[in-house]
Amino acid sequence: MPDRTCIGCRAVLDKGLMVRLAAVEGRAVPDLGGKLGGRGVYVCSEKCLREACKRKDAFQRALKTKVEQPEPEAIWEKVRATGLKG
Ligand SMILES: [Zn+2]
Repeated sequence: MPDRTCIGCRAVLDKGLMVRLAAVEGRAVPDLGGKLGGRGVYVCSEKCLREACKRKDAFQRALKTKVEQPEPEAIWEKVRATGLKG
């Protein structure tokens, strides 16, 4: 599995250990089924997602498209629901 960089802590990890987010209709959404195309960003934990969300434009810069500032609680709720991450 290729390694990816977490946009929260900059750790480089196997992408299977991370949660991918992709831009869909101007919002960063978790790509839980690995089905969303286009550019993606990766986070390794809820903490890192929160950190990234605190930084203005972090997602826009990484996704290279305009997205609303994501809400980490709402995103992680979906991640947790899949059992992918605790
Ligand atoms: Zn991280």
